[in-house]
Amino acid sequence: AILTGLIFGILGGALCAWFLVVRLRSGKEILTGIKRGQFYVVYQPIIDAKSLKISGVEVLMRWNHPSAGSIPPDAFIAFAEAQQLIVPLTRHLFELIARDARRLQQILPAGARLGVNLAPSHLHAPGFKEDIQAFVASLPARYFQLMFEITERDMVKANEASSLFNWMHEQGFEIAVDDFGTGHSALIYLERFRLDYLKIDRGFVNSIGLETVTSPVLDAVLTLARKLSMTTVAEGVETPEQARWLIDQGVNYLQGFYFARPLTFEQLRQWKEQPKAY
Ligand code: C2E
Ligand code: CA
Ligand code: CA
Ligand code: CA
Repeated sequence: AILTGLIFGILGGALCAWFLVVRLRSGKEILTGIKRGQFYVVYQPIIDAKSLKISGVEVLMRWNHPSAGSIPPDAFIAFAEAQQLIVPLTRHLFELIARDARRLQQILPAGARLGVNLAPSHLHAPGFKEDIQAFVASLPARYFQLMFEITERDMVKANEASSLFNWMHEQGFEIAVDDFGTGHSALIYLERFRLDYLKIDRGFVNSIGLETVTSPVLDAVLTLARKLSMTTVAEGVETPEQARWLIDQGVNYLQGFYFARPLTFEQLRQWKEQPKAY
């Protein structure tokens, strides 16, 4: 069931990306989209498994395309990468976050995490460090804890990234391995790089149901994370059973529709974490 889920997920993403390549004739549409303000961000709360309180948010990008409608990031991020436009797009993402930063500060506790997804081609682009420093300078000083998310698949490409990761730690940022379990990374990277979080892909979380109370792969991932002293975040938590099971297994943070969908700033402001009965 896990495998089928993952395969459908990957096929779905590939199909989406393919349709877009057909539809969006050139990368110019992305640049036009940036200029015309068609991109915006939403925030998905990340819940502390102990207190059940919000510990931060993951920032997710959206594209409100004038003819194609709302385009999911799984499609346009890949397209932007293919068109070598991920750097301008990510700089724009930084601007969008900076624009919200003051009001985010009013509703999120000091030290709240801001999870920001990074694409691998940006990590290696000239000017990456400068982009990050400019982004940090645009945020309220030392209020948020920045957590940069890089997918497991891209960790492999980030092969030479060890010194970059060290630099990021020196700057006080945290690094999360995103979609953990879907890549085929040599596990050796987990030991070699200093990484802070493992974000367990929702494909695994999905498999936690009433019948399948345990998944051997998920068990192994949790054991691995513990042994590497990495903090765990479970993604795609949709039911109270899944939340309960993950909390019992000692997962540190939970994220998913059960707690909150990705929310606009206004929705986030109105969202209140409620103690959930399991
Ligand atoms: P991701 O980083 O794994 O983000 C989590 C995705 O899971 C989000 O999809 C979120 O809406 C979805 N999700 C969260 N909770 C649940 C749940 O309980 N059930 C289900 N079924 N889904 C849930 P979204 O926003 O469509 O983003 C898809 C991917 O696009 C992200 O996956 C990330 O890899 C990429 N992405 C999004 N925004 C950015 C960005 O600003 N920069 C980059 N480089 N990539 C981005
Ligand atoms: Ca992510
Ligand atoms: Ca993920
Ligand atoms: Ca993903």
